[in-house]
Amino acid sequence: MTTPAVYRVPRYDYPAQFGDVDARLLPDIRSLLLGGDYVLGSALTAFERDFASYLEVPHVVGVNSGTDALVLALDALGIGAGDEVITVANTFHATALAIVRVGAKPIFVDCLLDSYLIDLEQVEAAITPQTKAVIVVHLFGQAVDMPAAADLARRHGLALIEDCAQAVGACSHDSPVGSVGDVGCWSFAPSKNLAAAGDAGALSLRDGEFADRLRLLRHFGQPSQNQHDVLAYNSRLDSLQALVLSHKLPFVDEWNRRRVAHAEQYRLGLANLPVTLQSGAAQGGHVYHLFQIRTEHRDALVSFLQGQSIDAVVRYPNPLHLQRAFLYRAYPRGCFPIAEALAEETLCLPLYPSMAPDQVDFVCDTVAKFFAGTP
Ligand SMILES: *Cc1c(COP(=O)(O)O)cnc(C)c1O
Repeated sequence: MTTPAVYRVPRYDYPAQFGDVDARLLPDIRSLLLGGDYVLGSALTAFERDFASYLEVPHVVGVNSGTDALVLALDALGIGAGDEVITVANTFHATALAIVRVGAKPIFVDCLLDSYLIDLEQVEAAITPQTKAVIVVHLFGQAVDMPAAADLARRHGLALIEDCAQAVGACSHDSPVGSVGDVGCWSFAPSKNLAAAGDAGALSLRDGEFADRLRLLRHFGQPSQNQHDVLAYNSRLDSLQALVLSHKLPFVDEWNRRRVAHAEQYRLGLANLPVTLQSGAAQGGHVYHLFQIRTEHRDALVSFLQGQSIDAVVRYPNPLHLQRAFLYRAYPRGCFPIAEALAEETLCLPLYPSMAPDQVDFVCDTVAKFFAGTP
């Protein structure tokens, strides 16, 4: 199989988003560069204020990646050696890596067959006296049922962390993701629905003291110059990235609406084909970071689409418990059958805001062509 250099339907189009914003952004970048206010400056404060108001939470703390947001959240909650943190086996590596980074033990559970999201009944069953927190992941852009997750956390006295990296703008029962748990962790890496021009992350929360602790942790544990109160991190959101994010934030709902429109077009176009889809937006809660389809012929379909100049990919081919880095946890193959089946049978079709409707049609027609020729 040879992959084309330029796809007829690429997977993403990062630069297209800047087409909507660049007229005002470039002069602002110039002023920032000439002004010298690069770290913990007014551009960061402005983005933190704007994003907090978008999420309807009192506090946002910018950090330099989504992974750091998770690590700092766990650290600020006092979670470390001897503690257990429960999360789902099908998510991006960083969710569980953060747990290990603070010295705690990741406990995996399976996901639900229809939504691909964490199974809260299994979370409840996995709780031990060592359990300190649960990280729910709003995977592929779909919100976890947050009232149910919050109820579970409250009943068991656990901290509730939301991994919001893939779901900016999604809601659970009318509440924005990242506004219900104790803390929401955000990534603005280039592939996410709200993207910086590089790495960036943030935390969203309601508790002011918790926010102060996070501000201390991201900045060498120093409340003032040359005074270091705790052993911390260097993880600040750069002014330059904050500026990019402030300029893009007003567009994110419109970009998400386009994603949802493309997803609806996919759902119609694929309706009569032998594929299954992640359940839709039960409560208006899906912003389609990725559009997943499921088929037993996954690998053959990915090759076929690639051969037809469509950049389909697999996210994620290995559930976390079977990744080499987590083999030390000794979860046997077969213990999370749904996550394992999704890892073998799902693929992502291209979906990004600036995609044209005839590109979506072309993908649907190509998937149909594949199944017409499949014995
Ligand atoms: C992208 C992502 C992260 C990590 O974010 P980075 O900014 O790349 O560190 C964490 N969790 C999930 C679910 C992600 O998709």
